[in-house]
Amino acid sequence: MKLALALALLFAFALAAVVATVVQPVFRRGPTWRGPRADPGRLSGLVHALVALGPRNDAAGQSRAADWIRGQIVGGTPSDGVARPALQVQDGDRRVEEQRYVANGETFRNLIVRLGPETENRIVIGAHYDVHGPYPGADDNGSGTAALLELARVLRGSPLAVGVDLAFYSNEEYGLLGSAAHAESARGVRAMVSLEMLGCFDQTQQFPFAALRLLYPPQGDYIVVVGRLQDIPLVRAIKSALLANGAAVRSIDAPELIPGIADSDHSSFWRNGVRAAMVTDTAWYRNPRYHTAHDTPDTLDYGRMARIVDGMAAWASSIPR
Ligand SMILES: [Zn+2]
Repeated sequence: MKLALALALLFAFALAAVVATVVQPVFRRGPTWRGPRADPGRLSGLVHALVALGPRNDAAGQSRAADWIRGQIVGGTPSDGVARPALQVQDGDRRVEEQRYVANGETFRNLIVRLGPETENRIVIGAHYDVHGPYPGADDNGSGTAALLELARVLRGSPLAVGVDLAFYSNEEYGLLGSAAHAESARGVRAMVSLEMLGCFDQTQQFPFAALRLLYPPQGDYIVVVGRLQDIPLVRAIKSALLANGAAVRSIDAPELIPGIADSDHSSFWRNGVRAAMVTDTAWYRNPRYHTAHDTPDTLDYGRMARIVDGMAAWASSIPR
């Protein structure tokens, strides 16, 4: 009888440890963002304008999107006629780098905005701007692209202890080619975060395993930070920063074999030995419009997206040298 009780206790303890490892409860709130707040109206405008460029699946479409992103960063008057301030006024667009590579005989580009001091170790926050098929791709991944542009705006001029590179990736949908090129060539990357679909909320949450229903709410009204077991410190830091800035957030730290865990640009950095995480609305586990013609700008929650941008800004600016 005593042995049965001891075994039951041991089992309960082990189960609690596993659950805590997976869901990563955080009790300490992260840093609050004190710079300019991300603006839902601006995020909406960016997603609408990006989608209005047309399909972003082939080389021509991706090139059009890359030109538009570059225009948003360095200023000028983009095709929607609204002039925006340049992010790098004093030295032109020198700090926006283009990384070109060839795939299937066509040239593609990553755009990398370098913020903060030129430290040896840098942080990368990335989002892919290409789209699966000839679809609008508002959530996947106009939302991440717009969030990264807004992050560039709010971080501008704020003190950063460590260099932060904002990377706009091509060809995520076609084999993670853009982020793979970046991950293979970048040196001294301390951590990487992929912004992968940030705008779909208030849908029924689906799960890769039924057991996860016991750990996460059934209503998908939260953003999720995803990492492996070795990414726990990174996941915790991002999660607490998002929480502190008004985002409802959950996290999962699990082996890569769970379907979906590795399905974005962060896994290119995993392949190169870099700690990395993904911030996501969980894609097809939540968004019924995933990879369809219905993934349109009017379906996104720009208010919640803005709080995610604030949280990411707070996290990036709190990283010590
Ligand atoms: Zn995507």
